Amino acid sequence: MKVIDYIENSKETIFSFEIIPPLKGKGIEDICEGIDPLMDFNPPFINVTYHREEYEYKKMGNGLLKKVSVKKRPGTVGICAALMNRYKVDAIPHIICGGFTKEETESALIDLKFLGVDNILALRGDPMKNEAAFVPTKGGSQYAVDLIDQIKDMNNGQYLYEETKNSPSNFCIGAAGYPEKHFEAMNLNSDMKNLKKKVDAGAEFIVTQLFYDNKKYFDFVKKCREIGINVPIIPGLKPLTTLRHLSFIPKFFHVNFPEELSNELEKCKTNEEVQKVGVEWSIKQARELIKKEAPVLHFYTMGKGEAVRKIAAQVF
Ligand code: FAD
Repeated sequence: MKVIDYIENSKETIFSFEIIPPLKGKGIEDICEGIDPLMDFNPPFINVTYHREEYEYKKMGNGLLKKVSVKKRPGTVGICAALMNRYKVDAIPHIICGGFTKEETESALIDLKFLGVDNILALRGDPMKNEAAFVPTKGGSQYAVDLIDQIKDMNNGQYLYEETKNSPSNFCIGAAGYPEKHFEAMNLNSDMKNLKKKVDAGAEFIVTQLFYDNKKYFDFVKKCREIGINVPIIPGLKPLTTLRHLSFIPKFFHVNFPEELSNELEKCKTNEEVQKVGVEWSIKQARELIKKEAPVLHFYTMGKGEAVRKIAAQVF
């Protein structure tokens, strides 16, 4: 079922979450251990992130270094199929531009259509570690909006080099939104104009970058409505659980902690203390978002379901 239909049919805020595929070589049990406790809160869909290849230098037998392409977390599509089979939920694969030609994207979309996947979160992907800026793959898409165009074309029966009106896909397309602006954008307004392009191209729902200040989300939703973005905007939440998060999250996700939260975090000396503050803060955020009728609360688990379970147990 489509995300927009789940939202339309639900009178209450829906619980959902996102998982990342395990490191190569690990089994499906690894992710299921994190997911099982969260199933008590009846998520109708689970997102699965996509991780592109990285380049590494590996020592060869002759002592020389060789540049190799390594995919550390493969398996997004397979994990989606496993989740749908095991939990009878919808799985939402993240599909990115980086690393894919349009032909490869089309093949991936055809696989997803055969698997019965109804929703896709269409993203550009970040620049690779060694790149200063995002470089599109030769023959691939430059922006998420180009990927959305391609999916929309398939929904209209228009495949890359042929029209196949008999078997159009019917994907519900989601896009990413940034209440604190995307880090490359000149300012929030220009970023929002680009978000509007994604919605005009066919994105039917938006999932936001994680944020810790609800006001940023409420202002973002208000601005979206003002410029004619009328699709559901799903807030993304990530509980802080380790001391490392205190510098990693602002740096990696380009978000700020509000003063009240940072004051509490400054007192923390251990991961346990951070987790206590982080969980309490997310509960507070979640309660306010539910009160103001957010359609879905989308939790970034990043492989750690325990903190999300504590929050969900208090608010759902
Ligand atoms: P875009 O919408 O293409 O925007 C990228 C930048 O280009 C923005 O600054 C935007 O303002 C600008 N821009 C957009 N369109 C145009 C245009 N037509 N002309 C000029 N400028 C334009 N990354 C992964 O690798 N895997 C994942 O699974 C993943 N999941 C994510 C889930 C969510 C909910 C979010 C919020 C992010 C996720 N990301 C993921 C990260 C995402 O790929 C990065 O944030 C990436 O840098 C931007 O992706 P985007 O789809 O927002 O890009």
